[in-house]
Amino acid sequence: MNLAELCPCGNSRKAALCCAPFLDGSRQPATAEELMRSRYTAYTRADAAYLIATLHPSQRSVDDEANILAWAHNSRFTGLSVLKTKAGKAKDSDGLVEFVARFSDADGTYAHREISSFVKEDGKWWYVSAL
Ligand SMILES: [Zn+2]
Repeated sequence: MNLAELCPCGNSRKAALCCAPFLDGSRQPATAEELMRSRYTAYTRADAAYLIATLHPSQRSVDDEANILAWAHNSRFTGLSVLKTKAGKAKDSDGLVEFVARFSDADGTYAHREISSFVKEDGKWWYVSAL
């Protein structure tokens, strides 16, 4: 990731001031939306370790890494739009983020719309699941 270029998550900020510090572990996302954006950025980099580390432990399965890597390596990520958030702020303990993630693969182009649920436990935001 070029830290001086705009962040892949579409937040109109340089990566160094957006998702990069989350992916390198130097900062924790303060909101559910920040975590959601950083997970999209992690997909653009096929960063399975970050995606698994931010997935709530109750939701993990043994083939997560293989699935993430296969999908990320076969897809080209072309943009993210956050449509709506509910709670998920620094003082909340759960939240929802509705978004559209655009990507393409050998078979076509896609706009994946999802409402993701997040929880904050022990001061850390986790992705739980799609509603
Ligand atoms: Zn970002």
